[in-house]
Amino acid sequence: MFFPKNLAMSNLERPFASYHLWSLVVPNQGQQHWHCQMRRGFMKARQNEPEVQALRSQITAAQQIGLLAQQGVYEFHRNRDLFVVADGVERVASILELDGLSVQVRTRVLNILHRYYTKPILRRKRILLMTRGDEGFPKPIWIIRKNYRFRLYAMMDCVVMEPDNTLHILDFKTGKSPFDQRQALVYLLAARYLYPGYRMIASFYNLENSHKSEVIRVSNRELDQVEGELALIATKHYQDVQKYKNSGQFSQIFPPNPGKHCRYCPFHRICEFAQLD
Ligand code: SF4
Repeated sequence: MFFPKNLAMSNLERPFASYHLWSLVVPNQGQQHWHCQMRRGFMKARQNEPEVQALRSQITAAQQIGLLAQQGVYEFHRNRDLFVVADGVERVASILELDGLSVQVRTRVLNILHRYYTKPILRRKRILLMTRGDEGFPKPIWIIRKNYRFRLYAMMDCVVMEPDNTLHILDFKTGKSPFDQRQALVYLLAARYLYPGYRMIASFYNLENSHKSEVIRVSNRELDQVEGELALIATKHYQDVQKYKNSGQFSQIFPPNPGKHCRYCPFHRICEFAQLD
């Protein structure tokens, strides 16, 4: 992996930003009441501790469904003959090894596969990029400006070239979570570096209910603002982690916000502030 010469030391210590970090630092609209900074601390400052690692590696049913749904779409497009054979869904289900999974996961993923098989929204599209979702961390994009520098991580599900040569970044969703426009903004910013010179749009598509978001398009000036916001988030998080490493004052730097939401937090078993009544 190439790193700029003056950034070659301690790269993993350098500030970084991603949609996930943005969502951990700043709550989405309407979610302020259950947003917890301590959760960010567990995820992004104490992630190398064995018990935190063990909890982070436990995949929830919702996460498993999201991942398998994306892998299913990927398999359909890897072998487009699967769209025209009568048992296309069963073949993809076999590739995904759905047998042996819980009834809930298997049933929902099979429904998603059937829905995509009958309504393959990307079948006639020119797909430039499609990921399976289990590739691990993408390569960072180095953003180096006069006032800031940070690594940007953006794992896009799919990039399509529209007939008018507009790049369309599509993010697949499952479940009932609302679309968070910030995710699209991060992808559009990343695409400005990865595919310079193209007009770009982004949207979300829920594979479980076929709900499409509105198309999101922003100006270069707005992307500059997004970049500036991400630079602030990257710096704040970097400083918080350094403070924690130097002082060990976890709850002061990453304050808890206990409540009923703790029962859905992956760290409730090790969090001394968890409210589980
Ligand atoms: S258990 Fe509750 S207080 Fe502790 S990190 Fe999770 S959400 Fe925050």
